[in-house]
Amino acid sequence: MNIGFIGLGNMGGPMARNLAAAGHTVTGYDTADVHIEGLATARSAAQAAAGRDVVITMLPNGDILRRVAAEILPAMTPGACHLDCSTVDVESARAVADLAESHGLLAADAPVSGGTGGADAGTLTFMVGASDAAFAMAKPLFDIMGQKAVHCGPSGNGQAAKICNNMILGVTMIATCEAFALADKLGLDRQAMFDVVSTSSGASWSMNSYCPAPGIGPKSPADNGYEPGFAADLMLKDLRLSQLAAQGADADTPMGAAAERLYARFVEEEDGKGRDFSAMLPRFRARGRS
Ligand code: NAD
Repeated sequence: MNIGFIGLGNMGGPMARNLAAAGHTVTGYDTADVHIEGLATARSAAQAAAGRDVVITMLPNGDILRRVAAEILPAMTPGACHLDCSTVDVESARAVADLAESHGLLAADAPVSGGTGGADAGTLTFMVGASDAAFAMAKPLFDIMGQKAVHCGPSGNGQAAKICNNMILGVTMIATCEAFALADKLGLDRQAMFDVVSTSSGASWSMNSYCPAPGIGPKSPADNGYEPGFAADLMLKDLRLSQLAAQGADADTPMGAAAERLYARFVEEEDGKGRDFSAMLPRFRARGRS
C-alpha cells in the first residue's frame, strides 16, 4: 500500500518503520525534524496525505488531531482510509471520523496498548472503532504493527475501550502499590507478598506482569529506577480522558476519579513527572496516613 504517516514520535516512528520494512511505501511527516529508516519525507501533513491509500496519524492529543485532520482529510483521495492510532477523547475521535466520511473517506480510530516496546517489536494491541469496510482495509496493517486487533464497534469505540482499560490499569496500579506499602509496614516480605497475591484473588496485570516492587516478578521499570515504561504523565492524560468521557456519559466512576486526583497530585505537585506510573510504590512507602 501507499501509506502516509503523520506523527513520528516514540510510538509513530517505530510503527512507520515496521510498515516500511514489511514492503509498504511510507511517506512520513512530523513537525519535529525526524528521520525514520525506510521512509520518504513530506514537507507538510497534506503532502504526506495526498494520493495515499491509507493515512495514519499518531499524535499527542485530540486538539492536535482535529487540526491535522482538517488539513489532511480534504487532501485525501475519496475511498482512502484515515486511521488514527493516537489516544484521544471519544468526542474528537467521532468528530474526525464524521469529517472523514463527509469527504468520502473510510475512517478508523485505533488506539494501541503495548507501549514503545510493543511499537518497536510490532506486537501492539489495537482497539478499533470503525465500519466493517474500514476495519478490513486497515487489518493487514494492524497485523504488521501488532499482534492483535479487536473490532470494538463503530467510530469512537476504540477510544472508549482504551480509556476504560487504562482506567482499570490506573486503579489496579494504585491498589497494588498501596498494598505493597502497607505490607512493608506490617513486616511482610515483598517476595512473599508477590508470591501470594500473584496467585490469589488480588492478582492483576499491575502485580503479575508489571510488578511495582524492584527485584520481584518479571523485569519491570521498578528494576530500572522507575524510568518509563509508561510515564505517570501519560497515565494522568488517560485518566483525564476517562473522567471527561464519564462526565459526558453521566457514568459514576468513583475509583477512576480518585485515581485521576492521585496521579494529578503525583505528577503536578510531587516528583512523579517523567517517572514510570508504578513509582506510586515509593511514593506511598515514603508517606504516613496524612
Ligand atoms: P510523542 O510525543 O513521542 O510523539 C508525537 C509526535 O507528534 C511528535 O514527534 C510530535 O513532533 C508530533 N506532532 C505534534 N504535532 C504535530 C503536527 N501538528 N503535525 C505532525 N506531527 C506532530 O508521543 P508518543 O509517545 O509517540 O504518543 C503518541 C500517541 O500514542 C499519544 O496519543 C499517546 O497517548 C499514545 N500512546 C503512547 C504510548 C507510549 O507508551 N508512549 C502508549 C500507548 C499510546
